[in-house]
Amino acid sequence: MNFLHALSELVGKTNVLTGKAAAPYLVDWRERYHGQALAVVRPGTTDEVASVIRACAAAEVPVVPQGGNTGLCGGATPDDSGRALVLSLQRLNRVRYIDQHNNTMTVEAGCVLQTIQETAGRVDRLFPLSLTAEGSCTIGGNLATNAGGTQVLRYGSMRELTLGLEVVTADGAIWDGLRGLRKDNTGYALRDLFIGSEGTLGIITAATLKLHALPLARATAFLALESIEAAMTTFAHARHRFDAALTGFELIDATCMALVAEYFPRHTLPFDRESAKLPWFVLIELSDNESETHAQQRLETVLGQAIESGFIKDAVIASSIAQSKALWQLRESVPLAEKVAGKAVKHDISVPLSRMASFVRDTRQILEQAFPGVCPLVFGHLGDGNLHYNVTTGTRWDQDQLLERQHEISTLVHDQVHAIGGSISAEHGIGQLKRTTLTHYKSVTELALMRSLKRALDPRGIMNPGKLLID
Ligand code: FAD
Ligand code: ZN
Repeated sequence: MNFLHALSELVGKTNVLTGKAAAPYLVDWRERYHGQALAVVRPGTTDEVASVIRACAAAEVPVVPQGGNTGLCGGATPDDSGRALVLSLQRLNRVRYIDQHNNTMTVEAGCVLQTIQETAGRVDRLFPLSLTAEGSCTIGGNLATNAGGTQVLRYGSMRELTLGLEVVTADGAIWDGLRGLRKDNTGYALRDLFIGSEGTLGIITAATLKLHALPLARATAFLALESIEAAMTTFAHARHRFDAALTGFELIDATCMALVAEYFPRHTLPFDRESAKLPWFVLIELSDNESETHAQQRLETVLGQAIESGFIKDAVIASSIAQSKALWQLRESVPLAEKVAGKAVKHDISVPLSRMASFVRDTRQILEQAFPGVCPLVFGHLGDGNLHYNVTTGTRWDQDQLLERQHEISTLVHDQVHAIGGSISAEHGIGQLKRTTLTHYKSVTELALMRSLKRALDPRGIMNPGKLLID
């Protein structure tokens, strides 16, 4: 029987897409990768996923899992051979159950992140993962990329937010690891192996997630600063004073703010002209379990001290939820404005906090010497040591020139990161974009361990081949 016909028998004809209907699944969010596929298949249950994988294993058809297709490294886009099947998890979108006493929620992989946040909110709980793509990314994609976002400082990334997984293995078996246990020392941490594996070891079909107490109040402020050193000192001061109550510490440079002003003019900086000209801005957020007033007062006191000491030049504390949202919109508009502005050479790096200020200063200087006129665009989750360090054309380069030199530019940035013990991917993953870079910076031993895991779990090599690891 023809392979596509066999798939139709398994999941229903309307859930096997080809031609125009398949097109949106074959290009990534940044429109940087375009692929071809045998078809896009949309199973609706874990059993259907398992039977599709068994059919693929028997026919040795490569499988590219896809959730919301918002990934930034081309991990969910097939290659252009047309041999692979795109397996969309979007129809697996049920919230299976909430266990309020255990503070957990079990959801299927295709649930949209925002739906999970809202569902948790309805039972007076918080699911803290938060990122700009939350309206369309899925929890399966978040798990497969070990997503981070803006609340990692307080709650950790996906790995820390997950207690159990259900996975369809590369031979089509179902592993039910949906345990809601906070302690479980029964051997290898399979859960953590699948998290962050970008679909190269198996298909995540469901997860048991940790819920947290919904904070009673939040206080948000936007700060203007003179230097990256001042931002780091402010962070150290805030972390010391607030400890776990510090839930967000996001950095944005003046170039990013200029892009937001250009493409989203309704989002304006809350400062006077002088402060708006400063080179660095920080969005800081504090959670509080007493009251709105208490949160505001704590933030005011600590920021007041920082202003007196000269770390911060100016600060605006939101006095309403609407104002707080407006401050977050400024931060969230940065990647969107950057997308409209055109292509950049992007990096998603992390470095030890103790090396952050010198990294930012040295890299800017070395870039300027090597590629005079290029313009770094720096923003990200400073409290996690994670920056989106993107290099753009500035006024002297055009896009083609910049992209021609992208390999050299990235090598320069990544060499800097590597030299101080940092990572070339803090939260977006490897996908197709960084597979060669990964090979360059990981040790021979680490790569050998990773390859033996891949061979053991996916001996036919059908799970998202060509992503993350290359031979
Ligand atoms: P997809 O893009 O569909 O897939 C991503 C990868 O996971 C692919 O390799 C795919 O094969 C694999 N995969 C998907 N589902 C499964 C599954 N069920 N089983 C196995 N493998 C699977 N990320 C952050 O960490 N922090 C941020 O702050 C952040 N901000 C972003 C802002 C914007 C505007 C955008 C567009 C993206 C941002 N991202 C961020 C990237 C982030 O990785 C994704 O948004 C999200 O985690 C991916 O989810 P998805 O469902 O769209 O996955
Ligand atoms: Zn980010």
